Amino acid sequence: MIRFLLQICILLIVLPVYCQAPIFTAQDTLRGSITDERAWWDLSYYNLDIEVNPEERYISGRNTIRYKVLSENQVIQIDLQSPLTITKITQDGYDLVFNSIGNAHWVTLLKPQKIGEYNELIVNYLGRPKEADNAPWDGGFSWSTDKNGNPFVATSCQGLGASVWWPNKDHMYDEVDSMAINVTVPKNLMDVSNGRLREIEEGANSKTYHWFVANPINNYGVNVNIGDYVYFGEIFEGENGPLSMDYYVLRDNLDLAEKQFKQAGLMMEAFEHWFGPYPFYEDGFKLVEVPYLGMEHQSSVTYGNKYQNGYLGTDLSGSGWGLKFDFIIIHESGHEWFANNITYKDIADMWIHESFTAYSENLYLDYYFGPEASAEYVIGTRSRIRNDRPIIGIYGVNYKGSGDMYYKGANMLHTLRQLLEDDEKWRQILRGLNKEFYHQTVTTNQIENYLSEQTNIDLTAFFNQYLRTTQIPVLEFSLQNNAIKYRYTNIVRDFDMPVRIKVNDHEQWLFPKAEWQTENLNNKGSNEVLVDENFYILVKNLSD
Ligand SMILES: [Zn+2]
Repeated sequence: MIRFLLQICILLIVLPVYCQAPIFTAQDTLRGSITDERAWWDLSYYNLDIEVNPEERYISGRNTIRYKVLSENQVIQIDLQSPLTITKITQDGYDLVFNSIGNAHWVTLLKPQKIGEYNELIVNYLGRPKEADNAPWDGGFSWSTDKNGNPFVATSCQGLGASVWWPNKDHMYDEVDSMAINVTVPKNLMDVSNGRLREIEEGANSKTYHWFVANPINNYGVNVNIGDYVYFGEIFEGENGPLSMDYYVLRDNLDLAEKQFKQAGLMMEAFEHWFGPYPFYEDGFKLVEVPYLGMEHQSSVTYGNKYQNGYLGTDLSGSGWGLKFDFIIIHESGHEWFANNITYKDIADMWIHESFTAYSENLYLDYYFGPEASAEYVIGTRSRIRNDRPIIGIYGVNYKGSGDMYYKGANMLHTLRQLLEDDEKWRQILRGLNKEFYHQTVTTNQIENYLSEQTNIDLTAFFNQYLRTTQIPVLEFSLQNNAIKYRYTNIVRDFDMPVRIKVNDHEQWLFPKAEWQTENLNNKGSNEVLVDENFYILVKNLSD
C-alpha cells in the first residue's frame, strides 16, 4: 500500500511536467524528419504551374519535380496537405500508383532509379486549399479584396509547410537549385512571385505570369501574390553591381508606397555593409504588398505594414528608436541574409533566422543613428522576453522553439558583440557567416562552431546557456574593503562569460564563474559599481 501511494505521489509530481511537453504524432515525424523516402534523392528543379480562381477560392495545377538519384530506391515521398488532392502522378508518361498516409504520399516508381541520374516526376493536383485565418502565423491562402472590390490574394506557409498549397518535398534540409513559378490568374489581375518575370502569356479570360528563380530557394519562401498591382522600381548600386529593386503595390497606394519604400534602398545599403552582398542579385529584390503583415519570401519580400514606421505603428522596444524605421521593410528584408541565404535544416533551429534578423533591426539603427541608439533599442526589447521555454525547439517533428528566438536571441548576439570589443571584427564575422554558408541549409552546431572559431572564444557554454535553457545568468556581488566579491548563479556547467563593469567611472572586466572570487578595486573611498547593461544578465548587489 505504501509503495502504491508512493507511486501515485510520484505520478502527481511528474504528471504536470509531463503534460506540458508537446505530444507528437506519426504525421509530425513524416513532416519533420528526413525519412528514407526523402533521403535518397536530391532536389534539382521545380516547375510549378498553378491556376488560381479567387472567386471559387480554388486552385489546380501541377508540379514537375526534377531530382538526382543519390542511392537506389523505388519509393519517393511527396507531400501535399488535405483538403487538396492529387489527381495523377506520372514519370516518363506512365501513371504511378501511390499510397497516402495523411499528407505524405508514397509513390512507387516503375523505372529503376540509378545513382547519379536525373529523373522527373509530374504531380497533378487540385482543390480548395486551407485558408489562413491569421497569416502569416497559421498560413495558407489569404483571400481578400481591395478597396475597389478586386481580389487581393496571397500565400504564406512558414512552419505549416509549402505543401499546404503545392506538392513538393516538404522538408527544409533540401533546397531546390532553381524554380519556375507559372501562375494563371483572371485577366484583370497580376501575379507577383519570386525571382524575375520572364513572360506574360495572354489567354482569352486569363493571363499567365511566368516567374523564374535562378538561385536555391526554400519551400516556404515560394509565394503567389495576386492583385490589381501597379509597379515602380529603382536600381541600387550595390557591392556586386547594379541590383534591380522592384515594388508592386495596390493601385490606390502608389503615392504612399513611393514615399515609404525609400527605406528599401537605405536597408540595402546598411545590410550590405553589415552582412555582405545581397545574396540574390540574379533574382533581384522586390517588395510586394499583401493583405497580411508581411513575410520574408525570397526576392519577393511581402509587405502589409500599412505604410507607417514601427510594427503597425508601434515601437517594439519602447525606446523610441523603433519608430525610426518601417519594421516590416527592415526585418523581413534582413531575412534575405538570415533565412533565405543561410537557412535552417530543421525548424527547431529557427533562431538562426530570427535571432540574427531581430538583431539586424539594431544594426540598421547602428548604421544610421549610431551604436547608442542600437543598444537602447535592443535593451528595450528585453521587456518582450518570456523565458518560457528554450529557444531551440525539438528536432525531427517540425517543432520550433520559444518566441524568445527573436529578442532574447538578439540580446544574446548583442552580448556576444561586447565580448569581442572590436566592431569591425564583428562585422567581418557576420559577413563571413554569409560567405561560409552561402545558399546553404545549416544546423545550430555549424553556426556555433563557426562563431567559436572566428571569435577565438569557446562559446559552447554560452550557447548552451542562452539557447538550450531558460535560465538567465545572475551576477552576484558584494563590496568589502575596497574589493569586490562576485560569482555567477543560475548558470549551466562551465559558463564563465566575462562582464564589463564600471567602478567610479573606471571600466574593468570581471571573469565570474560559479565559485566566489575576489578582486581588488583600485579606488579609494566609496565605490559605485555599475554592471554594463549591454550584457544580457541579471545583477544582484548583495551589499544593498
Ligand atoms: Zn522574422
